[in-house]
Amino acid sequence: MTIIRSWIETANDPTCPFPLNNLPYGVFSIASGAPRCGVAIGDQVLDVTALEKAGLLQLADHPLLDRGAWNPVMAAGATVWNRLRTVLMGHLGEGSETQDQLEGHLHPLAKATMHMPFTVSEYTDFYAGKNHAVNVGTMFRGAENALPPNWLHIPIGYNGRASSVVVSGTGVRRPWGQIKGPNDDAPRWAPCARFDIELELGAIVGQPSAGPVTVAEADAMIFGYVLLNDWSARDIQAWEYQPLGPFQAKATATTISPWIVTKAALEPFRTTTPEREKPLLPYLAEPGPMLYDIDLSVEIAPKGGTPTVISRTNYNQMYYSAAQQLAHHTTSGCPMRVGDLLGSGTISGPDRDSRGSLLELSWGGKEPVILPGGQTRSFLEDGDTMTLTGACRGNGVTIGFGNCIGTIMPALPDPYAR
Ligand code: MN
Repeated sequence: MTIIRSWIETANDPTCPFPLNNLPYGVFSIASGAPRCGVAIGDQVLDVTALEKAGLLQLADHPLLDRGAWNPVMAAGATVWNRLRTVLMGHLGEGSETQDQLEGHLHPLAKATMHMPFTVSEYTDFYAGKNHAVNVGTMFRGAENALPPNWLHIPIGYNGRASSVVVSGTGVRRPWGQIKGPNDDAPRWAPCARFDIELELGAIVGQPSAGPVTVAEADAMIFGYVLLNDWSARDIQAWEYQPLGPFQAKATATTISPWIVTKAALEPFRTTTPEREKPLLPYLAEPGPMLYDIDLSVEIAPKGGTPTVISRTNYNQMYYSAAQQLAHHTTSGCPMRVGDLLGSGTISGPDRDSRGSLLELSWGGKEPVILPGGQTRSFLEDGDTMTLTGACRGNGVTIGFGNCIGTIMPALPDPYAR
């Protein structure tokens, strides 16, 4: 693929995350203004709410961009998704005749405050990275029982909390919780001491379902993708997770990056899931490549310190695609809604420096990560800022996700000591 040129010069740089090929969707505000829908282009954000109001972006017979969220566009369906992208390409492409009319609706990204790009209807998190599942299973249950017997047959997931999803930049408060004590009859109530990240991709469901759907239908239902950090309290998780899976360990916060990168932008980077180790039931068969080649990284910056990359991996490491996960999610008849968010599961590569959580990077705290200056990390410390990055890199083109950032705030005093 090659770069599609824009009259906004910064968008034509091969390293710019937001070229005309990308056109990711976000919600932003400037100064004390109201949040509005925006599209990132070069180092600018285009106010598409204003554009629609000015009659320069007619998508339907009623406004779709006036709610400060992208849900109405998603609900309008794939025909509108395609029309929107085509109209934006026309407006922002080199030689556009509407350049003069657009200039007043562009703002520097540096001045924009980003908000949640959509209203999350429901949130489900999966466990679909095999390296992660093997690593965690080995630590929790031993190498013999690392992968549960169902793992190679089912994209395992749990129902999370939509209310916990926050946008990049939101502070994350260290939680309190019930933690296993010296024996099973003496649990403790304490601030989480093993607070962690999970590097994931989030798939956004843009169309509803009313019954079981195929993998191809599921892929068509997906609107776009964001980076996702599933903050995880490992000590709380280890005590609570059997037999129904994670609960409070995953309910503090889940951070997403502020820009929805559309399926259309990712299309040139489609790739296949790895070879099946056991045959899947026919309903999970993929009709074509359903993963994407997306470079991912994890950065840590201790308070006042410089950011250090501690992991690099790729979304192509997943064993199950989002389309397979979504199809599986509907098998029971579970209705999916516009704005549902599906976490991929932690994305870990095969090597030590490609692991997507501190639990794996420090091997449960046994091999702490060494940072420049000699600091070490097994789990997160107060003041640590964690940044997830993601980008597809092609022939002189970068499709960037925008960063997914969160800083750890210290636990509050015991909330029950009053
Ligand atoms: Mn997770």
